[in-house]
Order: sequence, then structure tokens, then C-alpha cells
Amino acid sequence: MNTPPVLLIHGGAWAMPDDAVEAHKAGIAAALAAGYALLERGASALDAVEAAVTVMEDDEAFDAGRGSFLTRDGRVQLDALLMNGANLRTGGVACVERLKNPIRAARLVLDHSPHVYFVGVGAERFARQHGMALIDNTELIVPRERERLMAFQKAELEGAVDTTFSGPRHLDKEDEDSDPTTHSHDTVGAVALDRSGHIAAGTSTGGTLSKAPGRVGDSSLIGCGCYADDHSAAVSLTGWGEPIMKLVLGKWAVDRVAAGAPPEVAAEAAIDYLYGRLGGHGGIILIDRQGRIGLAHNTPRMAWGLQTANGTQVGVTRNGLR
Ligand code: ASP
Repeated sequence: MNTPPVLLIHGGAWAMPDDAVEAHKAGIAAALAAGYALLERGASALDAVEAAVTVMEDDEAFDAGRGSFLTRDGRVQLDALLMNGANLRTGGVACVERLKNPIRAARLVLDHSPHVYFVGVGAERFARQHGMALIDNTELIVPRERERLMAFQKAELEGAVDTTFSGPRHLDKEDEDSDPTTHSHDTVGAVALDRSGHIAAGTSTGGTLSKAPGRVGDSSLIGCGCYADDHSAAVSLTGWGEPIMKLVLGKWAVDRVAAGAPPEVAAEAAIDYLYGRLGGHGGIILIDRQGRIGLAHNTPRMAWGLQTANGTQVGVTRNGLR
């Protein structure tokens, strides 16, 4: 088989300010280049997804790896999932604090464990036993995020943030911050189709700003923020995690493709369902074995990139795709 490869990636969906656009586009372009070079050489979709996500984890612009949001107590806790549509092999890690690239740990779980999912120190120990270095949590923290956490916690003390809600939300409806999409959702993800006609998906995140230690979001939960099955589609999501989890939205979307919906339609339907059912915000990317793609978001912007045999596109709204 010599299927033309396709790589579709995202770097979060939110009300990204103008001054963040170029950094996101550059990060997306670098991730596309790394992943697509592998696909062109005949590597698996799984390898390409892992490579693309690794580049974005290493890029401080995104909420994944170094540069992630901080937890309420000022630490970085990372979640990631990788899934191979060819055989449904899956690896996930959550609440890891000492791994530079959680997507690589997810790959080790996928390759070397009969289990699917490891958390916390057990995940770190597994990764170390399989050759990954453990780093100090401070190596994942950037000054920008310390400042962001301080500002957020100050606003909380002043009563300007409603934390009883599923996601942090500012109370003042007149303020643009009343929209939860103004909080950065910079999670990264990738879906790919390889030359052998197989698909894969990966998602990696630092979660949400000032999350409670131990909180796990949708991103690394199988069927929520990530899923891949050659019989349907590969998907990665970003956005406000709790509503996405409650709807098991990744699996919901790929099931629509299995039932005959083109990925473009399934992606739009998933975001409509997220908002219509729970008022959730986010973005989704989808691909099927025919290389058909879907991309949708109900946030003002979503960072994305697409590379096929016909060329490369990078955008911060889906309009660029049409
Ligand atoms: N979905 C992620 C979470 O809730 C956040 C994001 O997409 O940026 O952990």
C-alpha cells in the first residue's frame, strides 16, 4: 500500500490574543515538519504523532511539557495519551511531574506494558525503568506561568473568579473574561495517516490553570480527548476538559465517522453537541483512513496545521482551511 500520508495537528483552542499568534504558528509549523518528514520516509502514523507532539511539548508557547499551566500549588502536572488505530494499542500517563516529554512515556506504556494507563509516581517509575530521565519539576516551569497563576489566584481572592463551575470562569459578564474560552487552552494534539493506511492519535497537556493537584482532564483519557481506530477515525481534542469528559466526546465523534459521517461533518457535530448539551468550549481534529479530515472549534481561535502531499497549511481559525 502507498497511501499519501496526512498529518493534522492542533495547539489549543481559545481566545488567543494577537500577540500569541506568531509563536503558535511557528510551533505548529515545526511540529508538522518533524512529523511529516517521518511519514514521507514511510514511518508509522504513531511515530509521526509522537514526534509532532514532542516538538510542541518542548515549545514553551503551548500548555504541554515545559511552559504548562501551574496547579493550584504552583507545580506542573502533565497528562498524555497515544493510541494506534492499527491495533488499538494505547498508552497513557497522568499527573506526571518529572518527565520532560509525557508523550514519550505514553509511547513506552503503549510499547512495553500490558497495561494502558499509569499515573503519578508509578508512571514516572515506569518511564525511568524504560530509559527516560527524571527531571526536577522546576525545569518545566516558566516565569510567565508563575505570574499567570499569581494573577489568577489574586482574582480568586477578590471574588472575581467562579471556581465552583467546571472550569475557572470570571464572574463579570461585562468583562470578556466571563467567557471561559478566554482562558488559555493550549493543549497539543496530532492525528495522522501513514503510507500503510493506518491512523493514530496523540494528545498532551498541562491541564487547566490553577487545577487542583491530582486533577485529570479529558486530554489523556481514552475516548475523551483522544482516540484512534482504523475502523473509524483518529481524533484529538482541546478545550474545557470536564464537559468533554462527561460526553466522552472523542469516541462520540469517531463513532459518527464509523456510522458514515464524513470527518468534517462529525467534527462540527461534536462541537455542536459539546456546546448544546453542556455549554462547553473547545476544538477537535479528526482523520479517517481515506485521509479525509475534520476540524471544528467554537472558540475564537484554534491553532492548527495540516500537511499532505499537496502542501502545508497553518492557521489560527478554521476559515483558513476552507
Ligand atoms: N482539555 C485540557 C484539560 O482540560 C485543557 C486544554 O485543552 O487546554 O485538561
